[in-house]
Amino acid sequence: MFYLLKYFIQMKILLRNNDLNEALSGVSNVGFVPTMGSIHEGHISLIKKSLNYCNKTVVSIFVNPKQFNNKRDYQKYPRNLKKDLKILKKLKVNFVYTPNKNQVYKSRKRSKILLSKKDKILCAKYRKGHFEGVIDVMTRLTKIVKPSKIFMGEKDFQQLFLVKRYIETKFNSKIILCKTIRNKNKLALSSRNILLKKDNLIKAGRIAGDLISFKKKLLKKKITKKMMLIKKNELEKLYNIKIEYLEVRNKKNLKLSTNINNSKIFFGYYLNDVRLIDNF
Ligand code: AMP
Repeated sequence: MFYLLKYFIQMKILLRNNDLNEALSGVSNVGFVPTMGSIHEGHISLIKKSLNYCNKTVVSIFVNPKQFNNKRDYQKYPRNLKKDLKILKKLKVNFVYTPNKNQVYKSRKRSKILLSKKDKILCAKYRKGHFEGVIDVMTRLTKIVKPSKIFMGEKDFQQLFLVKRYIETKFNSKIILCKTIRNKNKLALSSRNILLKKDNLIKAGRIAGDLISFKKKLLKKKITKKMMLIKKNELEKLYNIKIEYLEVRNKKNLKLSTNINNSKIFFGYYLNDVRLIDNF
């Protein structure tokens, strides 16, 4: 009987903070999956985990203008709300929070977020103000949703690292790390993949496969700057891409590493004018 009741309970779509607060009042163990929409299997894996671990799951869809360092990138970011809602309904998500800018930025109080010099690496080096924007919006969303658990993808490892460090010290919410979901060609799923033409989608898969094999070759080797530079040049030539960074860093502190154990290869590049990131 209860099972049937659960089945018929409708997913609620909320646009205003007050409505979300009301809907969540008295609910414990809330799971939260923040997204910028264009829902794909990567997001779905986070949502399924939340549905599994939490009493209620809130999925937010908000393309946050403040984390885009480039206006054109913000404008062309894929948006597919109707399709997203259909997917979320099928998954039996409890609440979808789709606020506009005014709702999220109602409170003028901007958290003082300063990245230290040692944080200005990888994406932070190339996207000025990006993580400050991400941490600010995550602070705002966490204040609104008050989740017990926030589910985030390893695909955006640096984001996860910085948000975890910031949010877990300020709030009573735990960040839950979720594995990167890839397509059959090993390409990490991303909303931005929609912007790639078919031949570039295939190419991006080949590049990911190439780096997965490269990682295996690094086992038991001392990794040098020169080695990484040679690989970077090789990839740029072979695939006609522009690489921002190709670095091996420790998973715990993101310090440069000379050993692949406890470390990952971090990779950011442009395929035509689409910026893609991954880690292996
Ligand atoms: P986004 O909508 O791109 O801001 O992503 C929302 C959340 O989904 C973030 O925590 C991402 O790290 C996560 N995510 C995006 N792509 C993937 C993927 N391929 N596998 C797992 N998680 C992902």
